[in-house]
Amino acid sequence: MTTTDTLAGRAAEALGRARRQDPGFDSRPCDVQRAITRRRLVRDVTDVFAVACEAVTVTDDPDREHGGWRWYRVTIADDGTEYRFTSFAGTVDALRALAPCPECAGEVPAGEAPDLATLGRVLDARTNGHPVPAPPGFGSDVGHQPVCPLRENS
Ligand SMILES: [Zn+2]
Repeated sequence: MTTTDTLAGRAAEALGRARRQDPGFDSRPCDVQRAITRRRLVRDVTDVFAVACEAVTVTDDPDREHGGWRWYRVTIADDGTEYRFTSFAGTVDALRALAPCPECAGEVPAGEAPDLATLGRVLDARTNGHPVPAPPGFGSDVGHQPVCPLRENS
């Protein structure tokens, strides 16, 4: 029997993943609307990327907030790798894959990834260097280091 054979085991693993993705997870107040959005996003990511529900973790994005609106962080665990995304709107349509900035190595939204083909394009860029169109707001993302030449003041 593994820990994922029981409800308590699956809940404990999900909690551990949520805490790793969002260190403030335990202190964030419950918000019914955001919980609905998180569950919908898990279902949509499961559907679009053909992964198991328990492989997907959706939390608040601890790094990205715009005008008081906190983005959503999505993580897909697959074959020993964690694929990390952020979504301003909390929808799969707004998913952007997080990856190291080519200049400063800070974790930034490197490309839009609302489906398998666009995710494939981002992953291909990591291994083959094919450029990916930068998503809107790339230069103003908080993930850049202060001295990054790609960083724009916003
Ligand atoms: Zn950068």
